[in-house]
Formats: sequence, structure tokens, C-alpha cells
Amino acid sequence: MTVLHPVYFRKPVSANLPTPLRVAVIGAGPAGFYAVEELLKQTDLPVAVDLFDRLPTPYGLVRGGVAPDHQKIKAVTRQYEKIAQRPGFRFFGNVSFGRDLTLDELLAHYHHALFATGAESDRRMGIPGEDLLGSFPATIFVAWYNGHPDFQDLRFDLSSTESVAIVGNGNVAIDVARILSRPVDELAKTDIAEHTIEALRQSAVKNIYVLGRRGPAQAAFTNPELRELTELPGVDLVVRPEDMALDPLSDEFLAQQSEPMSQRNLETLTGQLVKGEGTQARKIRLHFLVSPVMVLGTERVEGVRIEKNRLVKDEHGNLKAQGTGEYQDLPCQMIFRSIGYKGHRLAGVPFDERAGVIPNSNGRVLDLTSGLPVPRLYVAGWIKRGPSGVIGTNKADASATVAALLADVRQGMVAPEVTTDAEAIPTLLTSKQVQYVTFAGWQRIDQHELSRGQEQGKVRNKLVTRDQLLESAEAA
Ligand code: NAP
Repeated sequence: MTVLHPVYFRKPVSANLPTPLRVAVIGAGPAGFYAVEELLKQTDLPVAVDLFDRLPTPYGLVRGGVAPDHQKIKAVTRQYEKIAQRPGFRFFGNVSFGRDLTLDELLAHYHHALFATGAESDRRMGIPGEDLLGSFPATIFVAWYNGHPDFQDLRFDLSSTESVAIVGNGNVAIDVARILSRPVDELAKTDIAEHTIEALRQSAVKNIYVLGRRGPAQAAFTNPELRELTELPGVDLVVRPEDMALDPLSDEFLAQQSEPMSQRNLETLTGQLVKGEGTQARKIRLHFLVSPVMVLGTERVEGVRIEKNRLVKDEHGNLKAQGTGEYQDLPCQMIFRSIGYKGHRLAGVPFDERAGVIPNSNGRVLDLTSGLPVPRLYVAGWIKRGPSGVIGTNKADASATVAALLADVRQGMVAPEVTTDAEAIPTLLTSKQVQYVTFAGWQRIDQHELSRGQEQGKVRNKLVTRDQLLESAEAA
């Protein structure tokens, strides 16, 4: 049940605002950092922001989600480093909301709490065989290759895997296909986890099926990501001619698109047809208009049964996939479902289970029963709007939330009783024996990883266990 905190009282707008306004931001990914930036930019209102993350390291999906061969995208962390230098900022890594710090404790120490915890779990396909050995959510494969400390014990045996199926047509599916197929020596120079390089060096993977339930015109992947697959050394991107014969609904869909992405994707895909199967040893095989209906095998994955789809319009006029009753079995030894992320419920905070987000109106958290804003609670990023958009999308998203928060403050909606002692939170965490990591601690980890990487000709060699990270944060 949602706990309401009816501790607002309205002051006249002219009344003194708190000095400083103390805000806790939970989740140190892009949305969290952009929210911090907006809050600390205020010139007429002193603001102090403490940014918490359950990991010892900041940057959320930029560190743990963006693919290691996309270092240009990861360079956005330089902006976050600058934000962290602003007066009024503190970082508390390795602090888990709900366990190390409860909502009541937060609200005793901060005027406002802003949640930017992202969407960490995965969606399920809901088909028989989904839990066989060798069937995984793409999210954990991504976390594993990015050295996330909670996933470093996983083993992906690629040495006995000749074919892999990836379900989904988004950029995460493309990332997984690319990491499985890019030459290992290229990947080894990035910040990819060392255990992943070891597994990839043993890889026997020859076929990577990428399965889209709708057609090529409706694919969610973006064109630069698709084109990258056409340029991988030693890899053929194989497109089936029958998939490129568009139906009238797809023609209509294309005519309605305001962005050129789908058209560009079709051009890239059509451009692949001429080479057929190609001559390279490894194939990424795109199959459109197919849905997995069963993962085959007794203990381990041995294949996937797919059903051919056709496009139909739903009651809102959107195109959806409908099964035709025509089936095919694809042999594979590993399957990744890459069909979208989902948010986690946070203790004491309203949560919409179906949508996997915190219910909100323009970033103001809403009580599910009354539909009214829950005082002092705000939300930004994927846990606010769902898992969509690129990193930069979170900037406008977080700005809108902070604008709502500050508008409420300027309306005089301020909690009367919060501890203003800045030392209260470090003292509380220490009393609970929480080994929190400051931003200076993270900078020590950062330097350590960079110098380990430099010794091996890599961008960075990540520390992949909590113990290693905490030890490095503490190192003199
Ligand atoms: P996404 O873009 O939402 O794609 C999800 C895919 O899963 C869609 O193709 C969807 O098909 C499909 N799907 C959903 N339910 C399905 C089901 N039951 N069976 C079969 N297919 C199903 O999600 P994502 O790939 O996880 O990416 C999340 C966000 O991060 C996106 O905004 C993405 O662009 C971004 N991202 C960007 C990059 C990059 O810029 N390089 C890299 C990674 C992620 P329908 O369209 O038919 O629903």
C-alpha cells in the first residue's frame, strides 16, 4: 500500500523558502544526472542534492547498458562529471533504496525525493520452454558483458553454441547481435568485461537469428545501428527477399511516418538482398513477421518454434502481428528475449504493475487510488515514461520533472520538518554499516579501471565485483 506523507503546508509565495532546498535523487543514470543539473542550475534558490545509487558506481545504463563498442555514446559521462563538480552535489553509491535507506528516512532528511531508477527488469514472452537452460533475457547478457557486479557470476557457454535466436527488433537486439559477432580483437580494446572476452574467444556461433514479430517497416531499431551490422568484418547480414515484399498496410504505415527512419531501414535492408547468403563465416539472419510460440528442448534450448504472422489493424488503427497458423522450427542452442525493459516497484512508492512505471503527471508521482499527487515525490526517466528514447531524451524529461518540483516549491508547497544537518545522512548510513561510496571514491575507481585498461591496451578494464569496487573506492 502506498504511504502518503501529508506533510505539506502551504505558505504564501512570499514566505522564506528553505535554505538550501534539500532534494534526494535516487538513481545515478542519465535521468538522475540531468535532474541534478537542473536542480543545481537555479540562481534564485540554493539547492543541495544528494544522488543515491544502489551500485558503487554512477552512470546507470551508460556504464551498464550502452554497448562497449559504442564508446562515443559513453563519452556523455564527461558531462555528468561536470555536473558532479557543481556546488551542492554529493554522491552516495552502494546505497540501496528501501533496504539501506527507507522512504520515511528520506523524507525526514530531504524536502523532496526524485526517483530516476530506470527500468531494470525484462519482459517475458509467456511461451512454453521460456525457462529452459540457455534461454535468457537480453538484459542480463547486456549487464554481464558490461561488467555489472550483480551478473559477473553468470556463464554463457558460447563454445557449444552454433546458433542463437534473439527475439525483438529494437536496438538492444541489435547490440546483442553485434557483440556476438564483432571480431573479438576489436571488442577486446573496449571496456567490455574480461570474462566476456574469454567466452567470446571460445565462441562457435555461426548463425544469429533476429526475430521481429512485425515487418521490416515497423522495426524499432534505428538506421545507424542497422547499418553497423552491414559493416562488420567476417559477418553477412542476411535478409530474406520474401520479407521485403511489403503488404498494403506497411505501404500505408510508411506514408504516415514523419521521420525517415523506417524508410532508411528499408533501403539498408533492400541493399543487402543482392548478396544473398554472402560468403562470410558468420551470419546475422533477420526474420520478420514471425513470433516464437515455443522454445524447444527438454532441459536445454534446442530450438525455437516460430509462427508466421500477418499485419492487421487493432481497434486503435495500430498495426499488430497476428499468427497465421504456419509454423517453422529453427535450431538454436541459446535464445535471448529482447522485447523491452520493465521498471521495479520501490518500497512505499506507488507503482503501476502493468505499465512497469511509477504513475505520474508530468513527473509528480500520483497515488493510484485517488489519482492525486503524492506530496514531495517526483519521478524522471524510464521509470516515469517507460523504456524509450535515447540518452538525450532524458534531459528534457528530467527538466520537465524538476520544473514541476520547483513550481510546487514556489507555490509554497514545502515540507515543514526536515533535518537540515548535511551530516545527518552520512551519519545514518554509517550507523547502519552501509559502506557508501562518495564521488571522490568513484573517481578512485575510475582512475584504477583506466590505468588497468591502459596496461592492456584497452579503453578501461572494469572492476566487476562489489568487493573490488569498494576496495578501490577506499584506496588511498
Ligand atoms: P524497443 O526499442 O522498445 O524494442 C522492443 C522490441 O521488442 C520491438 O521490436 C517490439 O516489437 C518487440 N517486442 C515486444 N514484445 C514482443 C513480443 N512479445 N514478442 C516479440 N517481440 C516483441 O526496446 P529495446 O530494444 O529494449 O530498447 C529500449 C530503448 O533503448 C529504445 O528506445 C532503444 O532505442 C534504446 N537503445 C538505444 C541504443 C542505441 O542508440 N544504440 C542501444 C540500445 C537501446 P513491436 O514493435 O512489434 O512492439
